[in-house]
This record gives sequence, C-alpha cells and structure tokens, in this order.
Amino acid sequence: MKNDTPQDLLNVTVATAQAPADTLVPITVAHGDGIGPEIMAATLKVLTAAGARIAPETIEIGEKLYHAGHSSGIAPESWDSLRRTKVLLKAPITTPSGGGYKSLNVTIRKTLGLYANVRPCVSYAPFVATKHPKLDLVIVRENEEDLYAGIEHRQTDEVFQCLKLITRPGCEKIVRYAFEYARANGRKKVTCMSKDNIMKMTDGLFHQVFDEIRVEYPEIATDHMIIDIGAARLATRPELFDVIVTPNLYGDIISDIAAEMTGGVGLAGSANIGEHVAMFEAIHGSAPDIAGQGIANPSGLLLGAVMMLVHIGQPEVAAKIHNAWLSTLEDGVFTADLQGGGAGAARTGVPLPFGSMDFADAIIERLGRLPEKFKPVRYQQAPALPQGTTAKPLYVRAPAARKAVVGVDVFVHQSALSADDLAVQLQASNTAALQLQMITNRGVKVWPGGFPETFCTDHWRCRFVASSDNGEVSQRDIVALLGALTDAGVDVIKTENLCTFDGVKGFALGQGQ
Ligand code: NAD
Repeated sequence: MKNDTPQDLLNVTVATAQAPADTLVPITVAHGDGIGPEIMAATLKVLTAAGARIAPETIEIGEKLYHAGHSSGIAPESWDSLRRTKVLLKAPITTPSGGGYKSLNVTIRKTLGLYANVRPCVSYAPFVATKHPKLDLVIVRENEEDLYAGIEHRQTDEVFQCLKLITRPGCEKIVRYAFEYARANGRKKVTCMSKDNIMKMTDGLFHQVFDEIRVEYPEIATDHMIIDIGAARLATRPELFDVIVTPNLYGDIISDIAAEMTGGVGLAGSANIGEHVAMFEAIHGSAPDIAGQGIANPSGLLLGAVMMLVHIGQPEVAAKIHNAWLSTLEDGVFTADLQGGGAGAARTGVPLPFGSMDFADAIIERLGRLPEKFKPVRYQQAPALPQGTTAKPLYVRAPAARKAVVGVDVFVHQSALSADDLAVQLQASNTAALQLQMITNRGVKVWPGGFPETFCTDHWRCRFVASSDNGEVSQRDIVALLGALTDAGVDVIKTENLCTFDGVKGFALGQGQ
C-alpha cells in the first residue's frame, strides 16, 4: 500500500510555522502529574542534547490546580502563555474523580479550537513484540464535536440524554485536514469510518462531506466503512489501513486500540492541531501506579515532541531524535513496560530494564546515528504555512438555506398512560395550526398503530405537524400549542422544531413511521 516505511511518516507537515535557523522558538511546557514530570524531564533532556532551538515557558496544570479550585485544571494566566507561544508540549495529567471537575484535555482542545487529533500508530517489530508487525497507520480524529459537547440532561425519572453535535464546518475541517495530511506525508489511502447506517443525519453528514472532498484528491485512494466492521478489521487486519478519518468518539476508541496493538500505550505520541495553536503529548495517562519510580517509558511524549519539532520548522532535529530513538530500540534498550517482549531484548547484553532517564541517556548517546534495520526517518521541510492551515481553505461557509418550520416534536414526561391514551390526551390540545401526527418512545413509533410488545419508558416524543396548506407554522403557533398542552397538564420536557432547509427535510422519521 505504501512505499515509505512507517518511520518516514510520523510527521505532521501539514501544519507548520518556521523560524530562522538561529532563533529560539518559545514553547509552553506543562509537566503534568504522576509520571508526567519524569517523562517530561527525560524528553527535554533529549531535545536539549539534540540541539532543539526551543525556549520553554513552564505552566502548571492538572491535579494541583483542580484542588486549588480551578474546575478545568488550568489557571487563567496559563492561557496567556499558550496564546503567546501557540505551541504546548504537555505531559499527562490526573483528572480527579468525582463531580465538579472538567476534563482539562477537552477544555484545551475546545477552547483553542484544536480540531484535529493526529495519532500515528506504528509497530516496531521485531524489536517491540506485537501480533501486528505490519501495523502502520495514522488516525485523524475529529477533536471538538460529537458526544463530547458535554451537553447532557436528565429529562425524566428514567431517561438521560447526551447531545451529539456534528457540524458541517467541523466535518469539512477534519476531512480536509486528513487528505492534506495524507498528501503531505506520502500516504496513499484515506478511510472514513462512521455509523451513518443508523445516524443518518449526523454521521450521514460526516460521510457526505467525505464524499464531497475526496474527489479533490484523485491521487489518494478512499473508502468508507461502518465503524463496527471498520474497528473489527482494524483489530485483525490493520495493514488494510493507511489514514483513517473519523468522528470524535469512534476515533477516541479506535486510536487506543491501534496504539495498544503496536505493543503498548507507552509508545505513541499525538498532535492536536488547530488553526492558531497546537498541542503535542503522549497518548497515555499519568500512570499513577508507577509514578515516582523513574521507570516510565518517555517514548510517547518524545515522539509527540518530535511531531512538535516538525510543526515548528525544525525537521532536521526531529529526524535526528527519531533516528536515535529507533537505534536505541534496535540495540535492545527498553524501559520496563516493553521488557521481555522484543527480539532486541533477547540479543542485547545491556542490563534491562532501563529507567526513564537512563533510556533518555541511551537515546542521547545515539544522536547522529541512523537505525540499521528500520528505514531512517527523513522529515521534509514543511511548507511555510500559518499554523494549522492547509493548502486549501479548511472550510467554506455556504450561504444560509431557506428555512421553514413545518412542525414540532414535543417531548413529554409521563408514566401513567398507554401510548393510545396519551394520544387521546394530546389530540385534545391540537390547535388549528398543529396536529398530532405520531408518538415514539425511544425513537420507535408507538402511535398510531404501535405494537403491544414495544417496551415504553416515561419519555415520549410527540410529533405535531402543520395543518396549513403551505405546510408551515410560526413560532407563535408552537407557543400556542405548548400553552394548550400546559393547560391540559402535560409535562413538556423540551421541544425540537421540525424544519426544512431549501425544501429538504431536516429531521429523521420515527422508526416504523
Ligand atoms: P494510563 O495510561 O495512565 O495507564 C494505563 C496503564 O499503562 C498503567 O498500567 C500504566 O502504568 C501504563 N503506562 C501508561 N503510560 C506508561 C508509560 N509511559 N510507561 C510505562 N507504563 C505506562 O491510564 P489510566 O491508569 O486509565 O489513567 C490514569 C490517569 O491518567 C487518570 O487520571 C486519567 O484521567 C489520566 N489520563 C490523562 C491523559 C492525558 O493527560 N492526556 C490521558 C489518559 C488518561
């Protein structure tokens, strides 16, 4: 499928800012919690020894900040550093359990518009044990939308809801980024994964945008897989894949699966790319079980830092570090998490395992060396684009469509009545403008003509549609209906307007409708 080796392709040349050769580039560094400070110290030691031209500014994030009352784990002044440097190298943090704490990662990604999570997953066989020696792929995960909006409500005694938001700009940005990434990094195929057989409007939009944009990249092969079979194939035949682009939740899940398949979560780095700021990190967490022992593998954070160096226009330093790291693996030098698995460990005379800092020193000793078994890494000088932008506009905002309201879904909380009895009660509140058309329970039509076998909760979606000749209603018509329902003692939870956009329905039918 590809000509280059995996190690050639671990770069993020799509998004880059360059500085003159002798200028130190300010970066923001967060040392994190748990093993964070240990692996960050090891990583910065390697970067310094390799001659990375960086001027780190340290910020505090994570547990300490949460406990100091910052609900997102970051102090307000730290944002100033991020806005100034536009680059964050971040060690993992611990999110305290219990309510009231917001995920720092999600906050940073969304506040700074880091729309693309780029996670290269590569096997290093035979030096790192893996059942999938040919695994070599990049997951480009949408990073801001989907079920991660955090808009959740309890609506009735029995029903809880989480809103899944998928936007056209969000889809266009991530899909275009995936193709631009593939083009810039010599990748040959982009696979879209979604669940549009079920979520026809939200995941359907993601798939539709993929189909629209892929024709602009004729040299790149494309396909689409439903996420369930896609994930199954990924777990059994990862060589089928090159670049995968997918919405947030699916990407979250499959990127951990793919990283684990390479031989361990300690090995992978990731980039979070935005139009203004980018964040680089390891994919793993703060590993509290081994914190403070100096045994954690710094490789994930180091490879994140390698992606950062390409991003800030220092590809030669990135390649130097990456090649030294590969040479270190080839020499059978491992931290405890990889010990005993790889071929290298068996043939080396080096006492194992190495601690985090000894591992960093082993990489430093090999700076300037090229690996013998792995193909040496060559990072290209990235095009001088503003950070996070691509050769084509990330998205184009289309003119607003003509929107017409043609009805309303009224969500009702009630547990006493059957669907037929509820319908009788609701029909008594029909207005001249809006008539009850259908009732569903958890999406399944239960009136008219429901099945007695259908299990019903206390949460009913009651669809009222326009009775006028032109099929349209006004907001006042909806308010009048809600007034009538309230007068009749109906417990209305919420409403969703039924709209058409340039005459195309903007709502799904009920299952069985
Ligand atoms: P984890 O990734 O921290 O650890 C999972 C397992 O992998 C543990 O056994 C750990 O020892 C091992 N491991 C992880 N990184 C390693 C490394 N570099 N070297 C050797 N072994 C390593 O996941 P978890 O235990 O589920 O989460 C711990 C904490 O990390 C939680 O508070 C969680 O919220 C947080 N977390 C943070 C991030 C982040 O900051 N990006 C990501 C994931 C989890």
